[in-house]
Amino acid sequence: MSRCDACGAGELEVFGDLGEIPVLCGVHWADAGEAADSPVGQMTLAACPNCGYVRNVAFDPAVMVYDTTMDTNLHHSPAFAAFSAELCERLADRYDLRGKRILDVGCGQGEFLRELCQVSGASGHGFDAMYAGSTGPDPSGAVFHSGYAPRGAALPEFDLFTTRHWFEHIADPFEFLADLRERAGDRVVHGYIEVPDAGYDLSTAGWEVIYPHVSYFDAYALTAIVERAGWTVEDSGTFFHGMFRYIEISANETSSAGTAARVEDRDRTLAAVSGFARRHHQERDRWEQRIAELVAAGANPVMWGAGSRGVQFLTLADRTRQLAAVVDVNPRKWGRYLPVTAHRVDPPDVLTHLKPSAVIITNPAYKSEIAAQLGALGVDAELLVA
Ligand SMILES: [Zn+2]
Repeated sequence: MSRCDACGAGELEVFGDLGEIPVLCGVHWADAGEAADSPVGQMTLAACPNCGYVRNVAFDPAVMVYDTTMDTNLHHSPAFAAFSAELCERLADRYDLRGKRILDVGCGQGEFLRELCQVSGASGHGFDAMYAGSTGPDPSGAVFHSGYAPRGAALPEFDLFTTRHWFEHIADPFEFLADLRERAGDRVVHGYIEVPDAGYDLSTAGWEVIYPHVSYFDAYALTAIVERAGWTVEDSGTFFHGMFRYIEISANETSSAGTAARVEDRDRTLAAVSGFARRHHQERDRWEQRIAELVAAGANPVMWGAGSRGVQFLTLADRTRQLAAVVDVNPRKWGRYLPVTAHRVDPPDVLTHLKPSAVIITNPAYKSEIAAQLGALGVDAELLVA
């Protein structure tokens, strides 16, 4: 049993065992053997009945080490980049950031912090162990650091902290927030946190449940953890078809009325949790069988999209590599091998020779984009959304 990190009151209860899954789900290898031998980690999901927080209780921080060869960046997607641009405008306007100091923890390759500084006239520090760009001061007003953000007094002072798609990777999310709150002291400080929404991720077969994601938060659990760490909730919402959730928080803001968490959110997550194990195993078996049937029928089934969600699907449903190909639009992945299952990634134009009649995708958000690309290649295939 382990105590809930979010509310600090409940005891986490195990509800799902995904077995061993790839640790480095966003990495690809030049050598098939090395890809096959890449590390795996145990995924054992547990939930707090009190607040709906979900965590991999088998997570081992010693195996999950981030470095500059990895990139979990979402800015490659034009839709995500467009949302980021809007977010910069909104934050700059709402918090009057001119001359203020921003701290971006998990800054990726710096796209968001750079843009936020430029739009708002703020300066800032960005930290990320995966940051591979040039370090130090940047013309935008940002200073980039390649490495984990320090804790305690070594952390630069800030008026606004932002952390996008990193909070769910941290092994000690409560201590992280409590440390930021302590650094704020008596100053008026704001925070913006963005994570995948647990209600969405846990309603599927588990293609989104990847090893780097230690925690799964909905609005209720996110509110519980920020409030326990001494912050006030200003606002929360979802975007991208409900896939992503943000929460805006403050400290020492006297004008703030705060926003109450809705128990319906927790109950929706707990309902997804209670059906998860059965759904997960059914979907795994169903897709394995479906692929076998498509192969037997001569459909040459392929998968489009070799991101972490695709890797998880292959691990769970195509471990023996029955698919005719895995393709991706990212040229850096072509000819390289995915972790553990060692599927090779090919450019989409191999489909003109393979002529598949079934193409599996794992992200419904890209369905129309991929359908158009198949059309342009002259491939007439059924798109199957896993
Ligand atoms: Zn809890």
